[in-house]
Amino acid sequence: MPRPTKNHGFDDTPLWNHVDVLHMSAGRGGNRKWRCKYCNKEVSGSYSKAKGHLLKIPNQGVLPCTMVDDIYREIKKENDEAEQKKRARNLSAKQKQDYISLPEGSDLAHTKKRKGGIENPYYRKFCQRLANGSLYGYIPPTYDRLRTTLLLQLKAHVEKLLQPIRDSWVKKGASICLDGWQDLKSKPLINIMAASASSPVFLKAFDASEIITKVAEYLAGFEKADHYKECQWILDLVNQVDEINYFVQNHGLSKQIFDRYSDLRLLKVAETRFGSKIVMASRLRFVKDALEKTVMDPDWKKFKVNGRTPVELKAREVKVLLVSDGWWDKLDYFLEFTLPMINFLKAADTDSCVLHLVYDMWDTMIEQVKKVIFNHEGAGFLTEQSPFYDAIQNVIEIRAVRDCV
Ligand SMILES: [Zn+2]
Repeated sequence: MPRPTKNHGFDDTPLWNHVDVLHMSAGRGGNRKWRCKYCNKEVSGSYSKAKGHLLKIPNQGVLPCTMVDDIYREIKKENDEAEQKKRARNLSAKQKQDYISLPEGSDLAHTKKRKGGIENPYYRKFCQRLANGSLYGYIPPTYDRLRTTLLLQLKAHVEKLLQPIRDSWVKKGASICLDGWQDLKSKPLINIMAASASSPVFLKAFDASEIITKVAEYLAGFEKADHYKECQWILDLVNQVDEINYFVQNHGLSKQIFDRYSDLRLLKVAETRFGSKIVMASRLRFVKDALEKTVMDPDWKKFKVNGRTPVELKAREVKVLLVSDGWWDKLDYFLEFTLPMINFLKAADTDSCVLHLVYDMWDTMIEQVKKVIFNHEGAGFLTEQSPFYDAIQNVIEIRAVRDCV
């Protein structure tokens, strides 16, 4: 039977030469049945047992060889040389990796919090390495070593990788950007990053809980103020948009009628940012014809006109809005003066370095909004005042503060 060795360019298990292998197990563990060439003892077990037997090492689950004394020194030497080579090989492999290589194709941003399983890609890679490796007797680092020495090493390694990008800042410049994030416990964070032509680099993060509280207090005060009343109709309008959207989509009858007139569906926009309300409204405007036909369809009368159930009352309310020219005019106006804001948000919400452009874009956006509102109100652009415009300007400026945090 051929003697199985791990072929690394040298015989790293020379002691197998001193036993006769009788039987190999099918599994991977290297277990086999063997007989000592000197004392004829038969043993089942891996290389460490053969070593334990021949070199008379205690606590290996095998009795020491009684007949090996003449050749003991020679066997010991063979073993020591092989182990020394093995150590040198492992060390150079380790140096080649330059500390710890990061798992490919993983992204910490995608680490999901799941109950019962550790999903961290680094941890999984680590376990995989251990399972596939030949690190016999490997002792994992202690908690303290992990969070001090090894963490510092890894940090130094990452810093080293980022250094070329940092160096480029001096020559080409960088923009400092802020972004609002949440940590795993949903605590608000403000991340500070340096964006440059190379790629954005994380600089620092700080806890924003306190700032958020202050902004919330400020906004609470603001909602009682005059400009808020000027904007009340917008709030009503977006609520109505939501209600129409929800009603048409969530009742079998209305959905069925609507589908007859429109290939497009209404949207289920996640309530994330300012933009989602506008997206919803513009989608509604896009299918205006289909919506009008839907409520004028004879089948709509199956929601009883004089019905008293909540659904029937709602159906009437939805119809009243959708057949009202005044309501659609309001929607058009809303979409018109929010368009510059949407364009602004789209342009600003990218990874590229646009910060130096943002201030210009902001001024342009404000001017465009002002133009739409003054046109609509028929007010003189330079001479007259529009309380509604003042209110809108206030709202978007506060909104900008809130979006930053
Ligand atoms: Zn023996």
